[in-house]
Amino acid sequence: MLKTPAWAAPSATQPIEPFAIERREPGPHEVLIDIRYCGVCHSDIHMARDEWGGGNFPMVPGHEIVGDVVKVGDKVEKYAVGDTVGVGCFVDSCRHCEACKDGEEQFCSNGMSVTYGGFERTDGKLDKSRPTFGGYSTRITVDENYVLRVPGSIPLERAAPLLCAGITTYSPLRRFNVKSGDKVAVVGLGGLGHMGVKLAKAMGAHVTVLSHSPGKHDSALELGADDFVVTREEDAFEKNAGRFDFILDTVSAGHDYNAYLGLLRRGGTMVLVGLPEPQALAAGSLILGRKQLTGSLIGGIAETQEMLDFCAEHGVASDVEVIAMDQINEAYERMIRGDVRYRFVIDIESLRKAG
Ligand code: NAP
Ligand code: ZN
Ligand code: ZN
Repeated sequence: MLKTPAWAAPSATQPIEPFAIERREPGPHEVLIDIRYCGVCHSDIHMARDEWGGGNFPMVPGHEIVGDVVKVGDKVEKYAVGDTVGVGCFVDSCRHCEACKDGEEQFCSNGMSVTYGGFERTDGKLDKSRPTFGGYSTRITVDENYVLRVPGSIPLERAAPLLCAGITTYSPLRRFNVKSGDKVAVVGLGGLGHMGVKLAKAMGAHVTVLSHSPGKHDSALELGADDFVVTREEDAFEKNAGRFDFILDTVSAGHDYNAYLGLLRRGGTMVLVGLPEPQALAAGSLILGRKQLTGSLIGGIAETQEMLDFCAEHGVASDVEVIAMDQINEAYERMIRGDVRYRFVIDIESLRKAG
């Protein structure tokens, strides 16, 4: 086993702190990755604070991982030592259920092995004695089929957030065929939201940001948004009623879905990707105007690779603030206050040096 420095939440009520883990030597189909950067997703906060319940502690968060392959198992075909790769929100799945066969491993009916806070598999089954630990660590061992190739043209620290924020916003935009001229609104301009803006623009849409933070106006337009609406303004919902074909809702905190559904045109679609506590929904918000409300969860491995290649082709990358590992607790507080443009990314070199 490989002794590996990491940072973990010991429990849901304690800050993240140094913690040593062990990584395995790569098996025949596995690669060992030296992690270089790891993005900080709002899900890390929900999970480390057990806001969704059922968390496994100690927890090493981090599922926006990029780094270098440093060792490969003898049956590995897709990667070689020196390749630049990524790991997203899951590291394995059953590989034989309908969802896995369809390349939608995130919906594995036997449960995906989430990158942290979940379990590795033994003989294809989730093994409760083998917890998964995420990217707030210096290395990780992963099956080659759950590893992504990171195109060299994307600066590495700006590629890390694509592994979750990128695919989570790309997948629904593609699924609902967002295209040139469509009127798209992105609700919440955080890590996911700013990727939603960039990707929807790259697909040719007319993009409006719906934000509760008036101070983000200028930077939203710099990201490429065509319009910016402050949702706290009294007449914002009246003025923009029926305006959008498609709404991507990335908000991490409770808010009124009914109000946002009022902004869709007849037959329009709103996709939830933000995961706050349960919210009330009135049937009338959907019935009047035959509107669709649905959700989306990250994306499968093949689609994640497609997204990375799309980003390389269209010059899309995340806007990041690089931090050292020991700034993580402060970064969580700043994210909750909305004080990040637009994703914190941990420089794992800072952990390697300290460890
Ligand atoms: P983030 O960077 O913290 O951004 C969330 C944004 O929500 C903020 O920037 C803010 O935008 C808005 N917001 C926050 N508090 C608000 C409030 N009280 N009222 C109204 N708006 C508020 O978070 P993130 O990393 O993008 O993640 C967003 C959500 O998506 C989280 O719940 C996360 O767990 C979830 N997620 C889901 C998936 C999936 O597969 N479905 C994947 C990853 C993450 P404004 O300042 O512009 O209003
Ligand atoms: Zn995430
Ligand atoms: Zn499966």
